[in-house]
Amino acid sequence: MLGGAILGLALLLLVVAVVLRWRAGLPWGRVAAMDVGVGRPLERPLVATRYGLVGKPDYLIERGGAMVPVEVKPGRRAPHPYDSDLMQLAAYCLLVEETTGHTPPCGYLRYANATFRLSYTPAVRRRLVALLAEMHALLDTDDVARSHDDPRRCAGCGFRTFCDDALVE
Ligand code: SF4
Repeated sequence: MLGGAILGLALLLLVVAVVLRWRAGLPWGRVAAMDVGVGRPLERPLVATRYGLVGKPDYLIERGGAMVPVEVKPGRRAPHPYDSDLMQLAAYCLLVEETTGHTPPCGYLRYANATFRLSYTPAVRRRLVALLAEMHALLDTDDVARSHDDPRRCAGCGFRTFCDDALVE
């Protein structure tokens, strides 16, 4: 009797876990660390000193012996991932590679309406490294031109009140 109740409760918890996971849009695999909500947080940001890169993905999922970063943007809806979000995800892949010594095969980007998979290929890695070099070079200059024409990005930007290039007041 008691055994049946325990088994029933375990099954119920399993179903709840499956539903929550499905709603979160996370890929299957053990959640090794997370930087959102409750759970085991990443103790420190991941650091790749030689690329001047620091960051914390929202989740690290263990899949087939590799750590896969997951970035969640719950307020964003789009049919295709933004290129800037993909590069942020690629940066997390590079951070995982640099801190664990293992190259993740991919990363996942979760929007409110869809989950996108980025294959972390040598070409993606090369593009990211070139972008990082370009960004570091720009940090040494006094004036940097706006790189987009999206007023929504400016509306949500913390530098808006100081920025001469802002597209919104
Ligand atoms: S306000 Fe300026 S710094 Fe911020 S997103 Fe717009 S152009 Fe870029």
